[in-house]
Amino acid sequence: MSKNDRHIREISRGFYMIDLPMPFRLGHVNVFLYLREKRGILFDTGLNVHGVMPQLERALATLDLTIESIDDIFLTHFHADHCGIAGLIKKRSGATIHMSEKGKRHIERMGKATLMVETMTNFLSRHGFPSKTLDSIMRLFSHFRNVTAPFEVDEILEAGEVRSIGGRTFEVISTPGHANGHDCFYFADEGILLSGDHVLPHITPNLGPDLFDPDYRPLDSFLGSLDRVRDLPVTIVCPAHGAPFTDLTARVDEIKDHHRERKALVLESVRTGAKTTYEISLDVFVDDLSEFDKFLALNETYVHIIELIEEGKIGEEEEEGHVVYVAR
Ligand SMILES: [Zn+2]
Repeated sequence: MSKNDRHIREISRGFYMIDLPMPFRLGHVNVFLYLREKRGILFDTGLNVHGVMPQLERALATLDLTIESIDDIFLTHFHADHCGIAGLIKKRSGATIHMSEKGKRHIERMGKATLMVETMTNFLSRHGFPSKTLDSIMRLFSHFRNVTAPFEVDEILEAGEVRSIGGRTFEVISTPGHANGHDCFYFADEGILLSGDHVLPHITPNLGPDLFDPDYRPLDSFLGSLDRVRDLPVTIVCPAHGAPFTDLTARVDEIKDHHRERKALVLESVRTGAKTTYEISLDVFVDDLSEFDKFLALNETYVHIIELIEEGKIGEEEEEGHVVYVAR
């Protein structure tokens, strides 16, 4: 096996970033690994699709490791590109999987396909999503289900807890927003922040509601979570997508500005007349969107609507089986 592999690079002594393929727009996902003697501690895992496991194996081989050498897997959140092969790795190595309580609950629900489909279908149709597009989104989701191999979470990560493992210490920073139960991992001694999808260098992470947690306000949580990491003394931020970067504060401020602007656009749209979330999303996201993007746009619009309701700027009314929003 070659000792060189362009998909693995050292970000700090004995601490590695490995990029794994992803057949979607982002193209890749970064996972992270450090060594405890001849064993590995892994942060996120990549999708359960063709080519991911072999690429991870090739990268590990450069360190004389195999999948069987992985003792622990820490997961930032429940999206498939982060936890897709956690179950497969655990099966081979017996690794302990660590995740937030909210993440664990979501993983458990993913096994209940009918409940997931019904809940999402209800939500989308109540918010005006066209039924033809809804059908293809639900088909896409049933296909998506296989990109996470089933697994059980072994240990819960508590907000703010500090873990010492393999000669390194990190803090679990709870950063809900992009996903309910999202965590970042902060290695204060080295100034390394594994930011997952919370802070990304080039895109703002998509926000969507948690349909099983009606009290959850994704945008409000997300902005609070941005403030929670904004002033950390970092030397390097390692995101799940894109290259590591250094100016965390500036990036956080850009993302906050983006949401301020987007919320203003949502309000502007509602002020021109009663609309469903879907109709508002078409005003806000003016580009020609793919069906999946329309779904993301609706979610993202909805999380801004929740905040505008909280602020008393818009109200909700029922209209022929749909929810519409009106300016107050
Ligand atoms: Zn994600």
